[in-house]
Amino acid sequence: MSAQLFVVATPIGHLDDMTFRAIDTLKSVSIIAAEDTRTSAQLLKHFNISTPLTACHDHNESNKIDMLVQRLLKGENMALISDAGTPLISDPGFKLVRAAQEHGIRVIPVPGACAAIAALSSVGLPSDRFSFEGFLSSKASQRLLQLEKLKDETQTLIFYEAPHRILESVKNMAEVFGADRPVGFAREITKTFETIRKMTLGELVQFIESDHNQQKGEIVLVVGGATQEKDMEQEKLDQLLTRLLQDLSVKAASQLAADLTGIKKKVAYQRALELTAQ
Ligand code: SAM
Repeated sequence: MSAQLFVVATPIGHLDDMTFRAIDTLKSVSIIAAEDTRTSAQLLKHFNISTPLTACHDHNESNKIDMLVQRLLKGENMALISDAGTPLISDPGFKLVRAAQEHGIRVIPVPGACAAIAALSSVGLPSDRFSFEGFLSSKASQRLLQLEKLKDETQTLIFYEAPHRILESVKNMAEVFGADRPVGFAREITKTFETIRKMTLGELVQFIESDHNQQKGEIVLVVGGATQEKDMEQEKLDQLLTRLLQDLSVKAASQLAADLTGIKKKVAYQRALELTAQ
Protein backbone atom coordinates (compact mmCIF):
# COMPACT_ATOMS: atom_id res chain seq x y z
CA MET A 1 0.00 0.00 0.00
CA SER A 2 1.76 3.15 -1.14
CA ALA A 3 1.08 6.41 0.59
CA GLN A 4 0.21 9.82 -0.78
CA LEU A 5 2.34 12.87 -1.52
CA PHE A 6 0.60 16.14 -0.67
CA VAL A 7 1.91 19.26 -2.44
CA VAL A 8 1.03 21.97 0.07
CA ALA A 9 0.99 25.72 -0.58
CA THR A 10 2.02 27.99 2.31
CA PRO A 11 1.61 31.80 2.72
CA ILE A 12 3.66 34.31 0.68
CA GLY A 13 3.66 36.85 3.50
CA HIS A 14 0.52 37.05 5.62
CA LEU A 15 0.34 33.96 7.81
CA ASP A 16 -3.47 34.09 7.88
CA ASP A 17 -3.33 32.89 4.28
CA MET A 18 -2.40 29.41 5.55
CA THR A 19 -5.41 27.21 4.78
CA PHE A 20 -7.14 24.94 7.31
CA ARG A 21 -6.47 22.03 4.98
CA ALA A 22 -2.77 22.87 4.78
CA ILE A 23 -2.50 22.80 8.59
CA ASP A 24 -4.47 19.54 8.86
CA THR A 25 -2.39 17.92 6.13
CA LEU A 26 0.95 19.00 7.60
CA LYS A 27 -0.14 17.69 11.02
CA SER A 28 -1.34 14.37 9.67
CA VAL A 29 1.56 13.29 7.44
CA SER A 30 4.58 11.30 8.70
CA ILE A 31 7.17 13.63 7.21
CA ILE A 32 7.42 17.02 5.52
CA ALA A 33 9.91 17.51 2.68
CA ALA A 34 10.90 21.19 2.69
CA GLU A 35 13.04 23.48 0.55
CA ASP A 36 14.78 24.94 3.61
CA THR A 37 14.11 23.18 6.89
CA ARG A 38 15.11 26.21 9.01
CA THR A 39 12.63 28.51 7.23
CA SER A 40 9.84 25.95 7.38
CA ALA A 41 10.53 25.16 11.05
CA GLN A 42 9.37 28.71 11.90
CA LEU A 43 6.13 28.26 9.97
CA LEU A 44 5.46 24.90 11.61
CA LYS A 45 6.15 26.35 15.06
CA HIS A 46 3.63 29.15 14.42
CA PHE A 47 0.91 26.60 13.64
CA ASN A 48 1.95 24.10 16.37
CA ILE A 49 2.86 21.44 13.84
CA SER A 50 5.38 18.94 15.16
CA THR A 51 5.79 16.70 12.10
CA PRO A 52 9.49 16.06 11.32
CA LEU A 53 11.07 17.98 8.44
CA THR A 54 13.58 16.78 5.89
CA ALA A 55 15.38 18.83 3.24
CA CYS A 56 14.26 18.43 -0.35
CA HIS A 57 15.46 20.86 -2.96
CA ASP A 58 16.17 20.28 -6.63
CA HIS A 59 19.94 20.21 -5.95
CA ASN A 60 19.63 17.20 -3.65
CA GLU A 61 21.42 14.10 -4.76
CA SER A 62 18.99 11.88 -6.62
CA ASN A 63 19.43 9.28 -3.88
CA LYS A 64 17.62 11.69 -1.51
CA ILE A 65 14.65 11.68 -3.88
CA ASP A 66 14.90 7.86 -4.07
CA MET A 67 14.95 7.67 -0.29
CA LEU A 68 11.80 9.84 -0.05
CA VAL A 69 10.04 7.74 -2.70
CA GLN A 70 10.97 4.55 -0.79
CA ARG A 71 9.36 5.98 2.34
CA LEU A 72 6.22 6.77 0.35
CA LEU A 73 6.19 3.25 -1.10
CA LYS A 74 6.41 1.85 2.46
CA GLY A 75 3.18 3.70 3.24
CA GLU A 76 4.35 6.91 4.93
CA ASN A 77 2.25 9.88 3.88
CA MET A 78 4.39 12.87 3.00
CA ALA A 79 3.90 16.60 2.38
CA LEU A 80 6.04 18.78 0.16
CA ILE A 81 6.37 22.50 0.97
CA SER A 82 8.63 25.31 -0.20
CA ASP A 83 9.79 28.45 1.64
CA ALA A 84 6.67 30.34 0.56
CA GLY A 85 3.75 29.92 -1.80
CA THR A 86 3.14 26.96 -4.06
CA PRO A 87 5.93 24.37 -4.42
CA LEU A 88 7.28 23.89 -7.98
CA ILE A 89 6.29 27.46 -9.00
CA SER A 90 9.84 28.88 -9.35
CA ASP A 91 10.53 26.62 -6.37
CA PRO A 92 11.84 23.09 -5.88
CA GLY A 93 9.73 19.95 -5.89
CA PHE A 94 9.46 18.96 -9.54
CA LYS A 95 11.90 16.05 -9.22
CA LEU A 96 10.11 14.60 -6.21
CA VAL A 97 6.65 14.98 -7.78
CA ARG A 98 7.85 13.38 -11.02
CA ALA A 99 9.54 10.50 -9.21
CA ALA A 100 6.48 9.89 -7.02
CA GLN A 101 4.19 9.90 -10.05
CA GLU A 102 6.50 7.51 -11.93
CA HIS A 103 6.25 5.09 -9.00
CA GLY A 104 2.45 5.18 -9.08
CA ILE A 105 2.17 7.27 -5.93
CA ARG A 106 -0.87 9.52 -5.79
CA VAL A 107 0.13 13.20 -5.78
CA ILE A 108 -2.47 15.45 -4.15
CA PRO A 109 -2.40 19.26 -4.44
CA VAL A 110 -3.36 21.31 -1.39
CA PRO A 111 -3.73 24.72 -3.08
CA GLY A 112 -3.16 28.13 -1.56
CA ALA A 113 -1.08 31.25 -2.07
CA CYS A 114 0.92 31.83 -5.24
CA ALA A 115 2.45 35.25 -5.93
CA ALA A 116 1.92 35.03 -9.71
CA ILE A 117 -1.80 34.35 -9.37
CA ALA A 118 -2.27 36.92 -6.58
CA ALA A 119 -0.59 39.55 -8.81
CA LEU A 120 -2.57 38.57 -11.91
CA SER A 121 -5.83 38.71 -9.99
CA SER A 122 -5.25 42.25 -8.75
CA VAL A 123 -3.31 44.36 -11.29
CA GLY A 124 -6.18 44.79 -13.74
CA LEU A 125 -4.68 43.29 -16.90
CA PRO A 126 -6.40 40.60 -19.01
CA SER A 127 -6.30 37.29 -17.17
CA ASP A 128 -8.08 35.01 -19.63
CA ARG A 129 -4.80 33.86 -21.18
CA PHE A 130 -1.41 34.25 -19.53
CA SER A 131 2.10 32.86 -19.67
CA PHE A 132 4.13 32.42 -16.49
CA GLU A 133 7.77 33.22 -17.33
CA GLY A 134 9.32 32.91 -13.86
CA PHE A 135 12.68 34.67 -13.41
CA LEU A 136 14.52 36.21 -16.36
CA SER A 137 18.21 35.50 -16.72
CA SER A 138 20.61 37.43 -14.49
CA LYS A 139 22.81 38.08 -17.57
CA ALA A 140 21.76 41.22 -19.47
CA SER A 141 22.44 39.77 -22.94
CA GLN A 142 20.48 36.61 -22.19
CA ARG A 143 17.65 38.62 -20.65
CA LEU A 144 17.31 40.80 -23.75
CA LEU A 145 17.18 37.70 -25.94
CA GLN A 146 14.47 36.17 -23.75
CA LEU A 147 12.44 39.38 -23.99
CA GLU A 148 12.91 39.58 -27.77
CA LYS A 149 11.39 36.09 -28.05
CA LEU A 150 8.37 37.25 -26.02
CA LYS A 151 7.89 40.56 -27.83
CA ASP A 152 4.98 39.40 -29.99
CA GLU A 153 3.42 37.11 -27.39
CA THR A 154 -0.28 37.96 -27.19
CA GLN A 155 -0.92 36.51 -23.75
CA THR A 156 -0.38 38.46 -20.55
CA LEU A 157 3.14 37.71 -19.29
CA ILE A 158 4.02 37.13 -15.64
CA PHE A 159 7.59 37.53 -14.35
CA TYR A 160 9.18 37.13 -10.94
CA GLU A 161 12.07 39.49 -10.31
CA ALA A 162 14.65 40.04 -7.59
CA PRO A 163 14.68 43.54 -6.04
CA HIS A 164 18.31 44.26 -6.98
CA ARG A 165 17.54 43.60 -10.65
CA ILE A 166 14.09 45.14 -10.93
CA LEU A 167 15.14 48.50 -12.39
CA GLU A 168 17.42 46.93 -14.99
CA SER A 169 14.78 44.39 -16.02
CA VAL A 170 11.98 46.95 -16.34
CA LYS A 171 14.30 49.15 -18.44
CA ASN A 172 15.03 46.15 -20.68
CA MET A 173 11.29 45.44 -21.00
CA ALA A 174 10.56 49.06 -21.94
CA GLU A 175 13.34 48.87 -24.53
CA VAL A 176 12.10 45.62 -26.11
CA PHE A 177 8.30 45.75 -25.62
CA GLY A 178 8.01 49.55 -25.94
CA ALA A 179 7.58 52.15 -23.18
CA ASP A 180 3.80 52.29 -23.77
CA ARG A 181 3.15 48.61 -22.98
CA PRO A 182 0.93 48.29 -19.86
CA VAL A 183 2.45 46.64 -16.80
CA GLY A 184 1.20 45.58 -13.39
CA PHE A 185 3.65 46.01 -10.52
CA ALA A 186 2.83 43.84 -7.49
CA ARG A 187 5.27 44.24 -4.61
CA GLU A 188 5.22 42.71 -1.14
CA ILE A 189 1.82 41.09 -1.72
CA THR A 190 -0.06 40.48 1.57
CA LYS A 191 2.70 42.26 3.55
CA THR A 192 2.85 45.67 5.28
CA PHE A 193 4.23 47.56 2.30
CA GLU A 194 2.03 45.91 -0.31
CA THR A 195 2.05 47.98 -3.53
CA ILE A 196 -0.23 47.10 -6.46
CA ARG A 197 -0.05 49.48 -9.43
CA LYS A 198 -0.84 49.48 -13.12
CA MET A 199 0.94 51.87 -15.48
CA THR A 200 3.09 51.74 -18.61
CA LEU A 201 6.61 50.31 -18.65
CA GLY A 202 7.99 53.81 -19.24
CA GLU A 203 6.11 55.13 -16.20
CA LEU A 204 7.26 52.17 -14.11
CA VAL A 205 10.91 52.95 -14.85
CA GLN A 206 10.34 56.48 -13.50
CA PHE A 207 8.31 55.21 -10.52
CA ILE A 208 11.05 52.80 -9.45
CA GLU A 209 13.86 55.28 -10.12
CA SER A 210 12.23 58.06 -8.13
CA ASP A 211 11.42 55.92 -5.08
CA HIS A 212 14.12 53.51 -3.96
CA ASN A 213 11.70 51.76 -1.61
CA GLN A 214 10.09 50.30 -4.74
CA GLN A 215 13.34 48.40 -5.33
CA LYS A 216 12.94 46.49 -2.07
CA GLY A 217 11.11 43.29 -1.18
CA GLU A 218 9.47 40.72 -3.41
CA ILE A 219 8.09 41.71 -6.79
CA VAL A 220 5.89 40.29 -9.54
CA LEU A 221 5.62 42.03 -12.92
CA VAL A 222 2.55 41.39 -15.06
CA VAL A 223 3.06 42.67 -18.60
CA GLY A 224 0.19 43.17 -21.04
CA GLY A 225 0.42 40.96 -24.14
CA ALA A 226 1.23 42.34 -27.58
CA THR A 227 -2.27 42.19 -29.03
CA GLN A 228 -3.80 43.97 -26.11
CA GLU A 229 -2.51 47.11 -27.78
CA LYS A 230 -4.37 46.04 -30.92
CA ASP A 231 -7.46 45.46 -28.78
CA MET A 232 -7.17 49.04 -27.61
CA GLU A 233 -7.04 50.18 -31.26
CA GLN A 234 -10.18 48.15 -31.88
CA GLU A 235 -11.82 49.79 -28.89
CA LYS A 236 -10.92 53.26 -30.18
CA LEU A 237 -12.25 52.38 -33.66
CA ASP A 238 -15.50 51.15 -32.12
CA GLN A 239 -15.88 54.36 -30.13
CA LEU A 240 -15.26 56.47 -33.23
CA LEU A 241 -17.61 54.47 -35.45
CA THR A 242 -20.34 54.41 -32.81
CA ARG A 243 -20.22 58.19 -32.62
CA LEU A 244 -20.11 58.67 -36.41
CA LEU A 245 -22.98 56.24 -36.96
CA GLN A 246 -25.22 58.45 -34.85
CA ASP A 247 -25.17 61.06 -37.67
CA LEU A 248 -23.93 59.28 -40.78
CA SER A 249 -24.71 56.27 -42.96
CA VAL A 250 -22.60 53.11 -42.65
CA LYS A 251 -20.80 54.03 -45.86
CA ALA A 252 -20.05 57.63 -44.88
CA ALA A 253 -19.09 56.71 -41.27
CA SER A 254 -16.68 54.00 -42.39
CA GLN A 255 -15.14 56.26 -45.04
CA LEU A 256 -14.54 59.00 -42.45
CA ALA A 257 -13.23 56.50 -39.84
CA ALA A 258 -10.82 55.08 -42.44
CA ASP A 259 -9.62 58.59 -43.34
CA LEU A 260 -9.10 59.54 -39.69
CA THR A 261 -7.41 56.36 -38.46
CA GLY A 262 -5.60 55.10 -41.55
CA ILE A 263 -7.23 51.67 -41.38
CA LYS A 264 -8.57 50.06 -44.58
CA LYS A 265 -12.05 51.27 -45.59
CA LYS A 266 -13.20 47.67 -46.03
CA VAL A 267 -12.28 46.89 -42.38
CA ALA A 268 -14.04 50.00 -41.09
CA TYR A 269 -17.10 49.23 -43.26
CA GLN A 270 -17.31 45.64 -41.96
CA ARG A 271 -17.02 46.81 -38.36
CA ALA A 272 -19.62 49.55 -38.91
CA LEU A 273 -22.03 46.91 -40.25
CA GLU A 274 -21.41 44.73 -37.17
CA LEU A 275 -21.97 47.66 -34.83
CA THR A 276 -25.25 48.63 -36.49
CA ALA A 277 -26.45 45.03 -36.28
CA GLN A 278 -25.82 44.87 -32.48
N1 SAM B 1 6.57 29.49 -5.03
C1 SAM B 1 6.34 30.91 -4.88
C2 SAM B 1 4.93 31.25 -5.36
O1 SAM B 1 4.06 30.38 -5.31
O2 SAM B 1 4.68 32.38 -5.72
C3 SAM B 1 7.40 31.70 -5.61
C4 SAM B 1 8.79 31.46 -5.10
S1 SAM B 1 10.02 32.33 -5.95
C5 SAM B 1 11.48 31.62 -5.32
C6 SAM B 1 10.08 33.88 -5.13
C7 SAM B 1 9.57 35.02 -6.02
O3 SAM B 1 8.16 35.03 -6.01
C8 SAM B 1 9.98 36.41 -5.53
O4 SAM B 1 11.26 36.77 -5.99
C9 SAM B 1 8.90 37.28 -6.12
O5 SAM B 1 9.15 37.53 -7.48
C10 SAM B 1 7.68 36.35 -6.01
N2 SAM B 1 7.02 36.57 -4.70
C11 SAM B 1 6.95 35.71 -3.67
N3 SAM B 1 6.25 36.24 -2.65
C12 SAM B 1 5.87 37.48 -3.06
C13 SAM B 1 5.12 38.53 -2.46
N4 SAM B 1 4.66 38.44 -1.23
N5 SAM B 1 4.92 39.66 -3.19
C14 SAM B 1 5.39 39.77 -4.44
N6 SAM B 1 6.10 38.81 -5.05
C15 SAM B 1 6.33 37.68 -4.38
